[in-house]
Amino acid sequence: MLTNGGHRLDGGELAELDRRFAFHPFTALADHERNGPPMVVTGGKGAILTDAAGRDYVDAMAGLWCVNVGYGRTEIADAIADQARTLSYCHAFSSMASDKPAMLSARLIEMAPVPMSKVFFGNSGSDANDTQVKLAWYYNNVLGRPAKKKIIARERGYHGVTIVSGGLTGLPGLHAGFDLPLPFIRHAMAPRRLWEGHGLSDAEFVAKLADDLEALIAREGADTIAAFIAEPVQGAGGVIAPPEGYFAAIQPILEKHDILLIADEVICGFGRLGQMFGSSVMGMKPDMMTVAKGLTSAYFPLSGCMVSEKVWRVLAEGGSKFGPFGHGYTYSSHPIGAAAALANLDLLESDALVARAGEVGAYMQERLRAAFGDHPMVGEVRGQALIGAVEFVADRAGPAAFDPALKVAPRVVKAALDRGVIGRALPSADSIAFSPPFVIERAEIDRAVEAFRDAADQVWGELKRDGLV
Ligand code: PMP
Repeated sequence: MLTNGGHRLDGGELAELDRRFAFHPFTALADHERNGPPMVVTGGKGAILTDAAGRDYVDAMAGLWCVNVGYGRTEIADAIADQARTLSYCHAFSSMASDKPAMLSARLIEMAPVPMSKVFFGNSGSDANDTQVKLAWYYNNVLGRPAKKKIIARERGYHGVTIVSGGLTGLPGLHAGFDLPLPFIRHAMAPRRLWEGHGLSDAEFVAKLADDLEALIAREGADTIAAFIAEPVQGAGGVIAPPEGYFAAIQPILEKHDILLIADEVICGFGRLGQMFGSSVMGMKPDMMTVAKGLTSAYFPLSGCMVSEKVWRVLAEGGSKFGPFGHGYTYSSHPIGAAAALANLDLLESDALVARAGEVGAYMQERLRAAFGDHPMVGEVRGQALIGAVEFVADRAGPAAFDPALKVAPRVVKAALDRGVIGRALPSADSIAFSPPFVIERAEIDRAVEAFRDAADQVWGELKRDGLV
């Protein structure tokens, strides 16, 4: 923050540096280069962010669904500082071990919602999902099934942006211009109640989704499919929980065809749904699990791939065929990340934050439904515990979507930001998402919901004024 001879840069100067030199992810690049950032954040405490102008905002998204214990937790900051002083780095190649990653591995295996055997650490959800694909391939190569390599993900699933995980992600906007997905990836139907499931009972909808998966497997050939990857609740694709009975119907199909189930717990893991893992909430029994975000509440980049004993035994046998396991990152098992994760998990326990996510989450769901349930441009209010979304539609009865060019959700998010609340537009679902820190206060939820309700009213008023509805 201090440059140029000790001169403290003000918000305008910082914004100008950012406009000229920063290359932002998921941003309209030319617009940013023209207009710069809407604000420059300089601090955070609990669920509140502060910008360089001293204005505060409720962060109704916990960053990107990740700052679960809230900003400014000194317990984690101290654990990170202590670790940096004691052992700033240690790799994990060639059997090398350090204390904190060893402790964290054991703790995660103990916490896992279904029996898991080992955990491999990475740096992000994306690289962890790439690792899962490599593990599923390696598994089948060890088993002498070289053709069993395709991966089935779902439309609107979000699994990352790397060259493999970006293709697993079932959002066309992330494929366009990048030559994705790679050819071994397929997508099954998304379990959207408002669209694919419109007018169906839960049982009918589950049957439709299971039939879609069966048909996909039959078309491709089960002996060409290695794994199926799914979030317990799809997050960035629209906050989509499957209908009751979905995984109970899907899993026997996967088992029958010897297809591994990978649970992507990057958002749901560590309490967001009011239980420690989304797999428990949704009745998933995965062979492999991906964790990130809430593992450290984003105080340090850290992800993990957990594998069951069934998978591990085969991977371990691979040595006799392929030599020592040839995969891993410089920063795999980073001791500072592990120290941050251990301190974060301590906080979840000592402050009973998972139960809090359930309680405060029930309040948030109630408030969202009260504010948006009968709004003229809202098609659905959905979610559970501390994850929710509101989807905008042009016609509630149809339902009929808005013309994407109207950018309804991004406009609502912008109008809410003007009112001091940070949410997130999920443009492909014309939805706004809510995923606040578990420590958010009820009064802050009220402030966020009211700002968003006013913002939606403003945009609805503009659409009517312009004769667009
Ligand atoms: N999986 C899920 C379910 C996610 O929500 C995300 C990030 N939004 C990822 C994977 C990718 O994680 P990262 O951005 O850390 O690569």
